[in-house]
Amino acid sequence: MKLTRLKIAGFKSFVDPTDVLIEPGLTGVVGPNGCGKSNLVEALRWVMGESSHKSLRASGMDDVIFAGAAGRPARNTAEVMLVVDNAGRTAPAAFNDADVLEVSRRIEREEGSTYKINGREVRARDVQLLFADAATGARSPAMVRQGQIGEIIAAKPQARRRILEDAAGIAGLNSRRHEAELR
Ligand code: ATP
Ligand code: MG
Repeated sequence: MKLTRLKIAGFKSFVDPTDVLIEPGLTGVVGPNGCGKSNLVEALRWVMGESSHKSLRASGMDDVIFAGAAGRPARNTAEVMLVVDNAGRTAPAAFNDADVLEVSRRIEREEGSTYKINGREVRARDVQLLFADAATGARSPAMVRQGQIGEIIAAKPQARRRILEDAAGIAGLNSRRHEAELR
């Protein structure tokens, strides 16, 4: 699965609709301090189902919504869409009927998030599993947060194992097993 496009509207500093094409050869995003580089990566993690507001540098999930700036009122919704090239048909069976997957997450103040894959409403879990499974591929979307290297070094064995399992792509399997055991 290849990530090809990220559309952001109302998320953190990206108040106006922003369309980022992720083209082959893209190696970096540069810009002055505070211009939104980290927010861009956070938008990517958020649409993939990030559930920890802390790891998005927010004090609550609603804080990812544009909070207003000089002369611009705050928004009440934020939406991010990630376009995924699934020509290799590696997505989980339930979503593997299309060459392109449009994964979106929308949040409304005090109402929480809704997720869609190709227009169909899905659970947060479905989106999380979609990307957890993708980590099995050699070209996996791998994201290392700032400070994460230090965390790995300082982590207790249990936590370190979780990080290694994520990297090995078995996090999706574990979480499916957990779901099956609860049934
Ligand atoms: P650096 O080079 O310092 O790492 P950066 O390019 O990564 O900077 P970000 O951290 O992505 O910058 O962006 C910070 C900016 O985003 C700040 O100006 C902050 O006010 C703004 N911001 C964060 N959350 C919101 C929000 N909910 N609403 C409006 N603006 C926000
Ligand atoms: Mg930054």
